[in-house]
Amino acid sequence: MYKHHSALGVALSLKPAAPVTLIRPQAAARAARFFVEKFPGKSLYAVKANPSPELLRTLWDSGITHYDVASITEVRLVRRTLPDAKLCFMHPVKADEAISEAYFQHGVRTFSLDTMEELDKIVRATKGATDLELCVRLRVSSDHAQISLASKFGVDLVDAKELLIATRQVADALGICFHVGSQTMSPHAYTQAMERVRAAIVASSVTVDIIDVGGGFPSVYPGMEPPALELYFDTIHRTFESLPVSYSSELWCEPGRALSAEYSSLIVRVERRRGNELYINDGAYGALFDAAHVGWRFPVQLLRPEANDTEMEAFSFYGPTCDDMDHMAGPFMLPGDARPGDYIEVGMLGAYGCAMRTAFNGFSSEHVAEVADEPMASLYRDEVVAPRVSNVLRFGKSSS
Ligand SMILES: *Cc1c(COP(=O)(O)O)cnc(C)c1O
Repeated sequence: MYKHHSALGVALSLKPAAPVTLIRPQAAARAARFFVEKFPGKSLYAVKANPSPELLRTLWDSGITHYDVASITEVRLVRRTLPDAKLCFMHPVKADEAISEAYFQHGVRTFSLDTMEELDKIVRATKGATDLELCVRLRVSSDHAQISLASKFGVDLVDAKELLIATRQVADALGICFHVGSQTMSPHAYTQAMERVRAAIVASSVTVDIIDVGGGFPSVYPGMEPPALELYFDTIHRTFESLPVSYSSELWCEPGRALSAEYSSLIVRVERRRGNELYINDGAYGALFDAAHVGWRFPVQLLRPEANDTEMEAFSFYGPTCDDMDHMAGPFMLPGDARPGDYIEVGMLGAYGCAMRTAFNGFSSEHVAEVADEPMASLYRDEVVAPRVSNVLRFGKSSS
């Protein structure tokens, strides 16, 4: 793929009529190296955040060897893309056929569960295999997260004892996993969840081989600037060291967002302006699902070659479909003279952005361009770089 210098360069040279996804492999590689070097255990990439094969290969090349997959389609995709990767099937509710295919055709040995029924299903579908790594998913609070994962999955502490004992009897290795919710803004969330793990281990007196603290590691967005990731890692490490687990037990995590957010952004074009509402060519049914449905504020910048001293104003966006719901409240800060024909870069869409695109109403775009400039925000530079809430990029200023 031809590598462009910058987002501005793509807008100027291609003048794209449809949205263009920008990819920054160097940013994903930097995030992967950070986790590989600094997380005090194994980092499994949660594939659902962004299943792009190019990203998977970049993470693999940067040292990520384990992948958290949640569907048989993800199992096949990662196995096809990275034949030597270790796959962990961490969705607690799976089809029998998915478990069998994963175990017998793709070499998957690691599965999560949160009920006796799922345990029976795994044993049946693997024909009583004796080499299983089984992780019991514990329900924990999502109080510190922007997006909750607390209600759907996880066994309650009161029911955990029975399930842990039963799982221990069929598992070669027994793990306990949880998910504190996505974009978790405080390391304390992990301590709280790990205290619940401690209670479950004490109540059941089982030997535990794996503690998997799940995903939830934050990225950086306007109005959401988290503490440094090292603080999360230190807190998790300290609590892990104090848990009553076997001496050889392993610590795992499953970052999705933190490994992929900086990988992609999007160039959109303004097609109409009505007051401070901009009608752009991507939206709720495209890569901007979270901007519409959970009010996420992604960083934005106008891509114009000339300097612009116009004052910033707050804008909201409409996406291209005919649906009123295709609306993003923002506020998105842009120069007050933003107008039809302008290109806007929407940053930090590598996680749960590009992966969410549909072709509803005929609006979709496969167009991808690689760029060499820095992402609009980063957790992985020498110091945290706050998102440029709004600014106009000039020639030569953004080169990496
Ligand atoms: C979604 C998910 C993840 C990744 O979560 P992030 O918040 O993106 O880090 C990890 N593990 C499981 C089981 C998930 O469902």
